[in-house]
Amino acid sequence: MVTRYGIASVEGMAAGTAVLLAKGASPEEGAPGAGGGMTLDEAFEAEKKKFEAFSREGSGETAGIFAAHLEILEDPMLRETIEGRLADGLSPVDAVRAASDELAAMFAEIDDEYLRARADDVRDICRGLSDRLSGGRSNTLDNLPEDAVIVAEELFPSDTAEMDFGKVRAFVTRKGSVTSHVSIIARSKGIPALLGVDIDGIGTGDRLLVDGNTRQLTVGPDEGAEKAFFAKMKQLAESDEEDVPLRPAGTPVAVFGNAGSLEDITVAIEAGAEGIGLFRTEFVFMNASYFPTEEEQFAIYREAVRRCNGKPLIIRALDIGGDKALPYLNLPPEENPFLGMRGVRLCLKHPEGFRLQVRAILRAGAFGPVRMMIPMVAKEGELEDVLRLVKVCTEELEREGVAHDPTLQVGIMVETPAAVLMAPELARKAAFFSIGTNDLTQYTMAADRGNPGVAPLYNPMDPAVKRAIEMTVVAGREAGIPVGICGEMASTAEGRRVLASLGVDSVSLSSPRQISKLKQK
Ligand code: PEP
Ligand code: MG
Repeated sequence: MVTRYGIASVEGMAAGTAVLLAKGASPEEGAPGAGGGMTLDEAFEAEKKKFEAFSREGSGETAGIFAAHLEILEDPMLRETIEGRLADGLSPVDAVRAASDELAAMFAEIDDEYLRARADDVRDICRGLSDRLSGGRSNTLDNLPEDAVIVAEELFPSDTAEMDFGKVRAFVTRKGSVTSHVSIIARSKGIPALLGVDIDGIGTGDRLLVDGNTRQLTVGPDEGAEKAFFAKMKQLAESDEEDVPLRPAGTPVAVFGNAGSLEDITVAIEAGAEGIGLFRTEFVFMNASYFPTEEEQFAIYREAVRRCNGKPLIIRALDIGGDKALPYLNLPPEENPFLGMRGVRLCLKHPEGFRLQVRAILRAGAFGPVRMMIPMVAKEGELEDVLRLVKVCTEELEREGVAHDPTLQVGIMVETPAAVLMAPELARKAAFFSIGTNDLTQYTMAADRGNPGVAPLYNPMDPAVKRAIEMTVVAGREAGIPVGICGEMASTAEGRRVLASLGVDSVSLSSPRQISKLKQK
């Protein structure tokens, strides 16, 4: 049994059988026109018919995706680029591939999120064309089992258009951009999806448990893990009917949303969230092949602010380490990664890189109410170091005349027992506390959050965890700072009731469906 985490997800839980989707037919393998391959004209015509049918048969957003595909396919720019490469002497398959790279790169550069997302469309269209030219047809989805969990490097709209959703339970992919179609389609079909997952070693036929709420994938679960999974599923289904819980003072707990991508922000705000309580920035870094520049980060954070429509946005500093790796940082393997170079420890170890994120967040703060949140704090000194860096960056931006928020609020995640024990001291320096019950539970109970063998111990409702939360709330209240929760403990009605009774000011939820249920009442 193996447990892995995705970096983003579409909520929901599903158990099923892995179906590994083959990569597209390799262009090198197909000689043009051979093996039943088509000519370029025929390939264009066949793809046109396919997209017309998909957009006719699809509904809502899915139909829109294929209408956009059709537009790109019929845009002379695509045909002309391919013909240009043919004139350079490339084979039809290579010409399509070269055109795909060229146009996708061009779209990817555009400073407009909608147009940038068209890069994926171009690649999807060109893959379909080259399949037809080479005579290879990839990704046969015939004979799916009744409980298929589709596992792929990347899923394109064309893959999903041909799927029998009566049989598909979930998606698991290694790649998935913030504007990824996989998440749109998963949401529209009401199935969970995990993106940014290490899929190495997963084979067709493997039993998988997909938890889009905790972003957790279990491969080959044992009996205990199966039991715990289905018990949680049942509990979630039962916890639907409730009102926003009240704090001891009688005031309702505020409801925020957790986001792992820009899309998640839009969905949470549309569902009625009062703001974003946790914007996980890992995806910004994990979707890149190099450390993103300040400008690249700023563009994403500013867009995040725009999507919040004036509501507060808490941007979490990079929380890499533990289960999340960044290949280009070349971090040495650790014996105990969850007790190793994680979160703020890593940020402070590389202040030159961290500085770029701090500056980008400060700059985004000029466009709306932004707060910065520091993960994995264990010592006051760590918060002090971050605050010093924020001060230095603020002064730099001031000198450079660059718009920024000169009074950026910096809060911390309380997710280590050390932070709980030092909460009164930390509360004097932090602008807010956000309790990360996912990690706080594992560190308090000394029970790995990804190890179903110790699942009974990994329980946020354990009296020890509740006491840790209460101590944090009391320290926050005495210092006059808000205390929220952004861990999954808030994803059940029972958890929310306990949290409210302990006096937390807000909960931040990963599930847009839960947000809208609570906010409708
Ligand atoms: C947590 O630890 O509760 C949390 C919200 O952070 P993450 O799940 O990203 O570690
Ligand atoms: Mg955490």
